[in-house]
Amino acid sequence: MSDGAELAQIREAVRALCADFPGEYWRALDRERAYPEEFVAALTKAGFLAALIPEQYGGSGLTMGAAIAIMEEIQAAGCNGAACHAQMYTMGTLLRHGSAEQKARYLPDIARGTPRLQAFGVTEPTSGTDTLSLRTTAVRDGDHYVVNGQKIWTSRAEHSDLMLLLARTTPREQAASRTAGLSVFIVDMREAKGHGLTIRPIRTMMNHATTEVFFENMRVPAANLIGNEGEGFRYILSGMNAERILIAAECIGDAKWFIDKAASYAGERVVFGRPIGQNQGVQFPIARCYIAMRAAELMVREAAALYEAGQDCGAEANMAKHLAAEASWAAADMCVQTHGGFGFAEEFDIERKFRETRLYTVAPISTNLVLSYIAEHVLGLPRSY
Ligand SMILES: Cc1cc2nc3c(=O)[nH]c(=O)nc-3n(C[C@H](O)[C@H](O)[C@H](O)COP(=O)(O)OP(=O)(O)OC[C@H]3O[C@@H](n4cnc5c(N)ncnc54)[C@H](O)[C@@H]3O)c2cc1C
Repeated sequence: MSDGAELAQIREAVRALCADFPGEYWRALDRERAYPEEFVAALTKAGFLAALIPEQYGGSGLTMGAAIAIMEEIQAAGCNGAACHAQMYTMGTLLRHGSAEQKARYLPDIARGTPRLQAFGVTEPTSGTDTLSLRTTAVRDGDHYVVNGQKIWTSRAEHSDLMLLLARTTPREQAASRTAGLSVFIVDMREAKGHGLTIRPIRTMMNHATTEVFFENMRVPAANLIGNEGEGFRYILSGMNAERILIAAECIGDAKWFIDKAASYAGERVVFGRPIGQNQGVQFPIARCYIAMRAAELMVREAAALYEAGQDCGAEANMAKHLAAEASWAAADMCVQTHGGFGFAEEFDIERKFRETRLYTVAPISTNLVLSYIAEHVLGLPRSY
């Protein structure tokens, strides 16, 4: 079967699954800020969240091209993949840098969906984007590490069994280099809750299941250290391209949803005796958003192709994320404007998707930091921070 036919089948299967989770489902959850348990279970059962886990570990062994098709279709159907997208890519750090024993121990179960590994503890309240300044420490004590500190915006921690945690194992002033001294651990939150780990939900403008987590003398077996102590920053960075490409694909799906919704409404809604979409003042913003979405989509595909080929895709992954997040946000704004007052009504789902897609110019990396990356690493401009 050609790649094209296989991708078309995957898209079709995701669309069919998402059809069981219509707007009413998401609206009810949104009101309660509740987790889409049934939706995540259905995606897991279908094997979509194990797309990037190789077959030898029980995953679907699909390409990045297939993974982006899955995320895009979920969003384009009006669903919200943010509830579980990290299950797809967080395991990448373990896959690339974990020992054979760790991979055999965790990956087949992660591929089945139990345990879930979809919590990623990097951001802290004081350091923010400046990851190298993080303050959470992990100190070796016999065959354990003792972890103290705090993370913020650790999304899905309440709906995940495992967490990938970045903590400092060597004080900054004693580290061999600027980027050394941080280490990555797999934390089994089922064991740690109530034994040094506390999770507190943060209510946000959209239904995102995000939290802050506190570590107080939390003990993590030394066997759960991934790779070498002190090299964790490099391991985390290596996973960020996949995250950016997949989230860019979600933004493309969102943009398509907003554009379709706006175009069909503009064709139907009659004011002053003609469809509003007959006015260029209404049709041009939709066309402009379509052009921006298509351009971003090409960059997402370029980044995914480079990733698949094992080539450096740092610039393309960042540019894809930037263009796609801007395109989805512009399309969201346009969609509200096209619907006039109805854009604000809950039952149209636009205001919900508008809130959901707003996140992506801030997280997982904010616009300014993408621009800095391109300025410094592509254009050779002086480092600004
Ligand atoms: C809903 C949600 C879910 C999240 N999920 C996770 C998660 O699961 N795991 C996780 O680890 N993190 C998560 N994050 C954190 C997210 O990655 C950060 O919020 C994001 O990277 C921005 O960091 P910050 O909030 O600390 O902003 P700050 O670093 O405080 O920055 C604030 C603003 O200043 C700008 N800025 C900062 N420094 C510079 C500079 N040198 N030059 C120019 N501009 C600058 C930034 O671009 C930003 O606009 C999540 C965040 C949110 C809101």
